[in-house]
Amino acid sequence: MRSVSAFAVTPASVSSRRRVVVLGSTGSIGTSCLDVIAHLPTRLQALGLSAHASWEALSEQAQRFRPRWITVTDPALMPRLERSTLPASCALLCGDEGIVTMVSDPEVDVVVSAIVGAAGLTGTWAALEAGKTVAFANKETLVMAGPLVMDLAARRQARLLPVDSEHSAIFQALQGSSPREVERVVLTASGGPFRGRTRKELADVSVEQALQHPTWRMGPKITIDSATLMNKALEIIEARWLFDLDPARIEVIIHPESVIHSFVEFTDGSILAQLSPPDMRLPIQYALTYPERLAGPTKRLNWRELSAWHFQQPDHDTFPALQLGFEVARRGGTCGAVLNAANEAAVGRFLVGELSFLDIVTACRAVLEHHHFSAAPSLAELATLDRWARQEVMRWTHLHHSTTRT
Ligand code: MG
Repeated sequence: MRSVSAFAVTPASVSSRRRVVVLGSTGSIGTSCLDVIAHLPTRLQALGLSAHASWEALSEQAQRFRPRWITVTDPALMPRLERSTLPASCALLCGDEGIVTMVSDPEVDVVVSAIVGAAGLTGTWAALEAGKTVAFANKETLVMAGPLVMDLAARRQARLLPVDSEHSAIFQALQGSSPREVERVVLTASGGPFRGRTRKELADVSVEQALQHPTWRMGPKITIDSATLMNKALEIIEARWLFDLDPARIEVIIHPESVIHSFVEFTDGSILAQLSPPDMRLPIQYALTYPERLAGPTKRLNWRELSAWHFQQPDHDTFPALQLGFEVARRGGTCGAVLNAANEAAVGRFLVGELSFLDIVTACRAVLEHHHFSAAPSLAELATLDRWARQEVMRWTHLHHSTTRT
């Protein structure tokens, strides 16, 4: 639980207008983040925005929020961009260089890391290196390189604040407590669109069915991860590093309504939880205004309509991703980077119809079991393994495809 002490508040950080850089501003988390900023104009200001390729949405955001910079990370797009739509005061930057310029500027207070997948590591790393507060929605960063990221944050006295709803709930429940007092944390999971199904029933589900999440509206990658429960597996690993928790102290329970976002059980038997309707704007706002709570745009619970919340034990046979998550959290080292890359590649293959739904996790396990494990890898080694794992999934896919078709 070493990281929690790094969350201590400095008086100067309270009640001034915070200048925010949003990496991945046109995605699901990015647009929710700008909605929060728009609702709190006296407290928050968007100073920089970035998108990979969604130029139209990004230039609209630039007109609306008047940031100092925007960055397009896909360099191939640069020659074709119509810059005349941008406000005169807004500079257009390109690629990882643009990201680093924005996140390390001395005037920036908070960096929101909302780029999906392994691509989010660069910006998070540069922001921590610059000693910034990072509100991170990109769980892949901690999954891939948890020990290195936490170590960097500690060395640079940078603060990592979770945006993931479960981790925000745990973080909120931990306020005012000592890490020694934590008995366990219980991550809640909606169960996704296939809760209650058997493995056999999932053999030939379509991409469209897998994209129908019952409670959360999110981007395609995380929605598929929620259907396989790989999202929860990644969250187990994220919690393991963020809160420095022994994986034996982490549990998962299915809670279909997605109102209780996680529990913390303390040594005396008390359990604290954080509750709110499923709306990412609340954990985003808490990370942006921490430690203050302000009236924002978030939906409220209607106590007059409330009747019951439900819980179930997870079905490990149908959703083997969960066990994989616990195994990777226990082994650490290179496992997180391999699992993360394999999963991203496998989800990509599923979305284009080359892998079946159940194959996603099967491919991840196969690639994980074949990699050369190292207990304390460098960032460069992790980057190499990331590329290797993606190629292995391609190989596995083609092998599997040709076998099933003969
Ligand atoms: Mg989550």
